[in-house]
Amino acid sequence: MSVVPEFLAANQKYASTFNKGSLPLPPGRKVAVVACMDARLDPARALGLEEGDAHVIRNAGGLVKDALRSLVISEQLLGTKEIVILHHTDCGMLTFKQEDAVAAVKKNIGQDASHIDFQPFPDLEQSVRDDVAFLKSNKLIPDDIKIWGGIYEVETGKIREVK
Ligand SMILES: [Zn+2]
Repeated sequence: MSVVPEFLAANQKYASTFNKGSLPLPPGRKVAVVACMDARLDPARALGLEEGDAHVIRNAGGLVKDALRSLVISEQLLGTKEIVILHHTDCGMLTFKQEDAVAAVKKNIGQDASHIDFQPFPDLEQSVRDDVAFLKSNKLIPDDIKIWGGIYEVETGKIREVK
């Protein structure tokens, strides 16, 4: 069983009232959000985003190293001026170490994934600080780009800044 038939049914419903077919390509609110792929975090709803508002770049952990290519495109080709980093409580990235991920791949499918840095982190707040610092020190991210880092609480739906 695949989820695709359900997706297509939901999309028919979505498209039946869709009226945003003329939005410009560059994000209207000139912001890129980097967020974890966690299923409990819905950046659009948690941040009040509509179609056309923002780039939302998602990966395991919401880590900016993985998102750098997209961030540079977002800023240099599509006009965004601000980056919001969103990690979250109870993140899966807190639950394993690099060697655990490599071992799981080996055990499950017999392949060597040791060339991939899975980038797990042991400290949630520090992971946000590290990502802010990574972008601030990266020459591909100009100084006039505003950078903000925060944590979304899966328990409350609230977002708090990490300083
Ligand atoms: Zn996560």
